[in-house]
Amino acid sequence: MVLQREVLITNGREQHDDSITMQQHLQHPIFKTLSTIADKSNTEAYVIGGFVRDLFLHRPSKDIDVVVVGSGIEYAEAVGRKLNTKVAVFKNFGTANIKYQDLEVEFVGARKESYRSDSRKPIVEDGTLEDDQLRRDFTINALAINLNAEHFGELLDPFNGLKDLENKLIRTPLDPEVTFSDDPLRMMRAIRFAAQLNFTIDEAALKAIKAQKKRISIVSKERITDEMNKIILSPVPSIGFKHLFDTGLLEIIFPQMAQLYGVEIVKGKGHKDNFYHTLEVLDNICANTDDLWLRWAAILHDIAKPATKRFEEGHGWTFHGHEDRGARMVPKIFAQLKLPLNEKMKFVQKLVQLHLRPIVLAQETVTDSAVRRLLFDAGEEIESLMMLCNADVTTKNEYKKTKYRRNFELVKIKLKDVEERDQIRNWQPPITGNDIMVTFDLPAGKEVGLIKNAIREAILEGEIKNDYEEAYVFMLNQAKQMGLNPVNK
Ligand code: ATP
Repeated sequence: MVLQREVLITNGREQHDDSITMQQHLQHPIFKTLSTIADKSNTEAYVIGGFVRDLFLHRPSKDIDVVVVGSGIEYAEAVGRKLNTKVAVFKNFGTANIKYQDLEVEFVGARKESYRSDSRKPIVEDGTLEDDQLRRDFTINALAINLNAEHFGELLDPFNGLKDLENKLIRTPLDPEVTFSDDPLRMMRAIRFAAQLNFTIDEAALKAIKAQKKRISIVSKERITDEMNKIILSPVPSIGFKHLFDTGLLEIIFPQMAQLYGVEIVKGKGHKDNFYHTLEVLDNICANTDDLWLRWAAILHDIAKPATKRFEEGHGWTFHGHEDRGARMVPKIFAQLKLPLNEKMKFVQKLVQLHLRPIVLAQETVTDSAVRRLLFDAGEEIESLMMLCNADVTTKNEYKKTKYRRNFELVKIKLKDVEERDQIRNWQPPITGNDIMVTFDLPAGKEVGLIKNAIREAILEGEIKNDYEEAYVFMLNQAKQMGLNPVNK
């Protein structure tokens, strides 16, 4: 990575000749206002943290963190008056927040932190900028830029964060054992940044995560999952999950996923390692979608393989029913991870349940009725399902891969064809349970269900057309066989 040449002012306040200063990066008028107010109120003010890091990484960011030596709230209120903008004040936290145009600016007074062993909430006291930089989690997140006019745009980089950015390295300013023990959420954050930025985690930091992993238990499940979702949403999530696994964190925070790991060999026959397979599927799908829930479906598609694994003589390894069992596991996993128990969960569950269907289709001759059934069962989720199944083809056997992919294309063409002809997606059979009850003067019950099912099956099998007339005649015949006749009205 080449960092911008403009980064010329470092902690030592030296300035190189070809100086285009950091000022050029702080062109948004808000920085001028922040600077003016800082000088007027005789306050030291700095932009700090993620915004500065992202500036160097050319990742546009709308969240600006400002730290002042003194009261962040008073300073924010002065900024709010100048910009004629509402200031949200959080007295308990000593922070304030303004939304200005598309930016969100957070203000806080510089602070010094110390920790107790039972909580990740620090004891806080007022401090200097240096104290504040010391409490930051990683060197790349401790960079600060001066806002006061005299030194406007100067970078304060006490821990060589810039060099770490250049070397793509996640490193803690303090002893990593202390950093992670103080606030164990930082272990998740280290791994999340490694995945988001494709950075390496410093050896000592990795070692410390392994040593401190159990401390993760003092962090709320919601926060852990929030970080895990950020890993999942990163360009190559396997980077994060490999770290989670190798450090032992995954076993604690999401044991069902860790249990996918491993290959068992019986009579010389092994099965594939479902952990690495799952990661491959996840990375594959990420190349095609940013949808968090589709990515979750990739993570969970084989989650029941360990629970359904059998070695069958003469057959080898089987995982019969892992799609059903996996679908049943989804609500429990969502609840355990504090993921939403709503239609997103149902979406993931449906994809886990159906994930083998297109593959099976792609291995056989593709009949209209099989395609119709798939469309009926998948409904609106058909495209997502096809995407998951495509991602699921991880075989290294090029012949097989080409064959599956070709058959998938066939399935897709058939899907389009059948959909246009029969409009099965979101389809409800043309005769309802109520129609059956009225026609035969039946109470709700088993017979109605039997007739309704028979009609649906006949349409899906292509025995009759998907229209009312044919379905009506079919219903009469079906009922007759059951000894039922229509009542004359
Ligand atoms: P993102 O916006 O992608 O989450 P960020 O680095 O901006 O990344 P925030 O959570 O907004 O993350 O935090 C802002 C800054 O506050 C960080 O850059 C870091 O300096 C500091 N920070 C946040 N969380 C912690 C923590 N748990 N321990 C120490 N410093 C932290």
